[in-house]
Amino acid sequence: MTVHHTRMLILGSGPAGLSAAIYAARAGMNPIVVQGIQPGGQLTTTTDVENYPGFADVIQGPWLMEQMQAQAEHVGTRMVWDTVTGVDLTRRPFRLNGDGGDVYEGDVLVIATGAQAKWLGIDSEEAMKGKGVSACATCDGFFYRGKKVAVIGGGNTAVEEALYLTNHSPDVTLIHRRDSLRAERILQERLHAHPGITVLWNREVAGFVDGGGTAGLVGLDLRDTTTGETSRLATDGAFVAIGHHPATELFRGHVDLDDDGYIPVQPGTTRTSVPGVFACGDVADKVYRQAVTAAGTGCMAALDAERFLAAAEHESDREAMREPLREKENAEASW
Ligand SMILES: Cc1cc2nc3c(=O)[nH]c(=O)nc-3n(C[C@H](O)[C@H](O)[C@H](O)COP(=O)(O)OP(=O)(O)OC[C@H]3O[C@@H](n4cnc5c(N)ncnc54)[C@H](O)[C@@H]3O)c2cc1C
Repeated sequence: MTVHHTRMLILGSGPAGLSAAIYAARAGMNPIVVQGIQPGGQLTTTTDVENYPGFADVIQGPWLMEQMQAQAEHVGTRMVWDTVTGVDLTRRPFRLNGDGGDVYEGDVLVIATGAQAKWLGIDSEEAMKGKGVSACATCDGFFYRGKKVAVIGGGNTAVEEALYLTNHSPDVTLIHRRDSLRAERILQERLHAHPGITVLWNREVAGFVDGGGTAGLVGLDLRDTTTGETSRLATDGAFVAIGHHPATELFRGHVDLDDDGYIPVQPGTTRTSVPGVFACGDVADKVYRQAVTAAGTGCMAALDAERFLAAAEHESDREAMREPLREKENAEASW
């Protein structure tokens, strides 16, 4: 077993963790990034990225993450290929256990473990991801300009995604397996008032239809949840919007989580319920979930963590300076 100690330990190697690492390394914190089972994070699972600032041409998600990692390493980050499976946040430094038996100690901890989209789990889904099937309208809606799209789900996210997609598509269908939506009333009103959105009630997706060759998705096989009747809906794009799983199970009971499992942070900061522990990126964000917002909050986490350490070290210097004085006072008092 090897114990690795760092002033700033960062969990996660997506845009949030790597941005935190770039700032931490440049502040002389010698950060360690534990990469987890998805080095580079969610963007490594996609192809075209058109909305990350700084690139006039379409770039590839995996390439962007390689660049971020190279930049983090270039300024002094140590990348470790391990996954954290246990945490002890009651002691200082914080102590985390890696899957392979190594121990990671951090004077401060930045949690950037992300959130994974929930998928339907049907056979054809995996093969059609990136070929017409997506879990992020903000990310991929633009690719369906002027085309027919469908959104699957019935909560706030599904309704928001359907409304967002009307910016690009003249024909949006919302598919929901029940006869009423769970979304907030105000969102439902906007949805029903929109002329470009049709709702298909009591339908579930039984299959994604591949047009073959380079065609990608051409339709959805639907099943009526009340009658069992099957039908096919022609569509160019399908957005699965049934929620996300923040990767926080590890922290349950150690850091406050909200009802959906996300890590709440103090407004305007990345501070969590545990002093010295900071959260950034999708693990603390159920609203925006974008690479650029993850990178932005990653930067915030590194700056918050660095300031926390500086204040703690200043306080311990003051304590150390007070110590001889206290000894002198005690010696005088004992006369
Ligand atoms: C298919 C797809 C396409 C997308 N397209 C776009 C787009 O075009 N533009 C855009 O802005 N956004 C896009 N997004 C969203 C974007 O990818 C996310 O918002 C962003 O990646 C979030 O970054 P993050 O660093 O918070 O988390 P993630 O990227 O999810 O990274 C989480 C990291 O945590 C690590 N981890 C998890 N658990 C542990 C553990 N126990 N120990 C150690 N490490 C751990 C993982 O290995 C991973 O490295 C897309 C997402 C998907 C899924």
